[in-house]
Amino acid sequence: MRQVIIIGSGPAGFTAAIYAARANLEPLLIASSVEIGGELMNTTDVENFPGFPEGILGPDLMTKMQQQAERFGTEVLYDDAVALDLTGPVKKVTLGSGTVHEAATVIFATGSAPRKIGIENEARLSGHGVSYCATCDGFFFREKTIAVVGGGDSAMEEATFLTKFASKVYVIHRRDSLRASKIMQDRAFANEKIEFVWNAEIIDVLGDDAVTGVVLKDTVDGSERELPLDGVFVAIGNDPRTHLVHDVLRLTDAGTVWVDGRSSRTSVEGVFAAGDVVDATYRQAVTAAASGTVAALDVEHFLAARGDA
Ligand code: NAP
Repeated sequence: MRQVIIIGSGPAGFTAAIYAARANLEPLLIASSVEIGGELMNTTDVENFPGFPEGILGPDLMTKMQQQAERFGTEVLYDDAVALDLTGPVKKVTLGSGTVHEAATVIFATGSAPRKIGIENEARLSGHGVSYCATCDGFFFREKTIAVVGGGDSAMEEATFLTKFASKVYVIHRRDSLRASKIMQDRAFANEKIEFVWNAEIIDVLGDDAVTGVVLKDTVDGSERELPLDGVFVAIGNDPRTHLVHDVLRLTDAGTVWVDGRSSRTSVEGVFAAGDVVDATYRQAVTAAASGTVAALDVEHFLAARGDA
């Protein structure tokens, strides 16, 4: 039986792995069968992670974190956790391959998933002009007219990035002021290819096989109009990925995994949580990494108190 299994391969999971491995806990990290590295894999320049004054590409940062975790003995599995049995003293993690791994503790660091607008044709046209990842799909929109939905940092970052490809980028926001940080706002305002559509929400996505436009509703006067488009990038925030644990671990009103104060201790003994799955507020790479550290230290103390480590 393992001492600790870490589920998740973002900054929280890998930082927890670095600390746990250096504490000789020989962690097993369940990364994902699709893409290792979490949300930063869908980011371009990371300019605010300390230690990289010139910035670093998100995927490069995650590769370095993985190398650092493996250097100290973390075992990384490229598979998905599909079922968890967390309540007893032996935690069981079932993977997509069917293999079951056992451990005394689990660090749950599954991050968050992009939020959907929730309208019918959004799902139907997903992958056919509706996207949740500018760095993944921007390339397909060379010289096209597209829109980004949202008013936060993600929307500004995606809109600015997409101007490398598209001839025109609308930013559709439901209010008349942005939530994004000033530096990101200023960058978007200064970009001639970006045009803001204020007080508007998308109520329908148009197109048979591919997006041809959207129906906008004015959030002030309720009027509706069509906007012709080749693509829509949805960047309206993320929701914590709790589907594996929502009936086992206590959750907060914000939908994140509840933890005890500043610790990573969840409502179930021996189960710890870290990163975006516990954080509805800050959600930065560096805060996720810090929270991974907390989780690894909490695991160490838990095992030591039980006489296991
Ligand atoms: P966010 O800050 O929660 O912003 C979400 C935006 O989407 C808000 O403007 C919100 O509108 C809008 N929105 C939410 N639900 C909507 C809906 N159903 N329909 C239409 N619009 C909707 O999320 P985020 O931009 O993903 O950022 C999350 C966190 O990551 C933040 O802490 C951010 O600072 C951080 N982040 C940082 C960077 C960076 O530093 N480079 C880059 C990306 C993200 P309202 O404003 O009206 O609520």
